[in-house]
Amino acid sequence: MKGEAKLEQRVISTAERLLAGRKSVSALEVLTGIGWLSDRDVDAWRLGRAPDLSGALAVGPEKVALALQALQRWAAEQRLEAGEVPHIGASRTREELRVTADDEAERVFRTHWTMPGLSEARRAQVTARQAKVPDLVVVSAVEDWVCAQCGDTGELLFLENDAPHCLDCVDMGHLIFLGAGDATLTRRAKKASGLSAVVMRFNRSRKRYDRLGILLEQGALDQAEESCLADEDLRQRRRVRDGERRAAQDVGFIARFQEEIRRLFPGCPAERAEEIAQHAGTRGSGRVGRSAAGQALDERAVTLAVIASIRHLDTDYDELLMSGVPRQDARDRIAAVIDQVLDRWRDSGRGTPAPTR
Ligand SMILES: [Zn+2]
Repeated sequence: MKGEAKLEQRVISTAERLLAGRKSVSALEVLTGIGWLSDRDVDAWRLGRAPDLSGALAVGPEKVALALQALQRWAAEQRLEAGEVPHIGASRTREELRVTADDEAERVFRTHWTMPGLSEARRAQVTARQAKVPDLVVVSAVEDWVCAQCGDTGELLFLENDAPHCLDCVDMGHLIFLGAGDATLTRRAKKASGLSAVVMRFNRSRKRYDRLGILLEQGALDQAEESCLADEDLRQRRRVRDGERRAAQDVGFIARFQEEIRRLFPGCPAERAEEIAQHAGTRGSGRVGRSAAGQALDERAVTLAVIASIRHLDTDYDELLMSGVPRQDARDRIAAVIDQVLDRWRDSGRGTPAPTR
């Protein structure tokens, strides 16, 4: 009994401290706060590395049950407002995660208790934080791995359905890396980028994930750099990046690829065809350019590259992914729009009259 009272006291003081700072509190935050769960285990769980957190808890289920009861009693006494928020995973499938195998405990774990009497704005802020869909997370691999879809490997991987995938196979191959360090630049570029993902690497000696930087769209980074950097720094960065890109490009392949796009899709704007071909012909980006089919300028490979471009630039696919819609659902929702654009680009020059001048 004495032990129970002591435990209850620990739970309450931790919950009070969290509530004072964040205006809301959840069971997961309390268990982490009293040291029964480590941030490392919670991070790994969010990445889909563990089915639930029961194995990561430092204490047995009876003690957890006592702590949850104490927390619920305290929240009721304080007249806190309870609301359930699902735990959404940081892997691309964005599936709902479970903390335990027990349904009743699970409901308590989904509950966030919010301080009553908050202003409208503060309340909105707290609700947004509770419901916040976590960033998409790309892992910088420390161990050997192969892509579950294409069998390739690389420096960066994305976990989907518990299996590692290369970025090309999960439609993220066009993103470029910005290292951590400049917080303002990162924030602005992320805001401007339709699709972005945080890059994490497991630090073996410190036993936790470090944030290396962020993957985002080239255009978003250009835009953010222009608003953040002095002209001299800007020119210097562009020179370095252009040089790196040129070194990785297969110029002959790009020209042939571009020609093939124009032949199959006469209505595709010239700049777009150039952009798609450049991406396909740059080493380290674009499965199409790497594969034998792509090298042979197979019609299907060229069409896939065109579709990838339409998906990111002419549909709200990236927005759907960022808002937590699973990849396959997002693809299904935009399929009709892709077909429309493909038809338009195929037809143009045949069915439509030539412009008069
Ligand atoms: Zn792959």
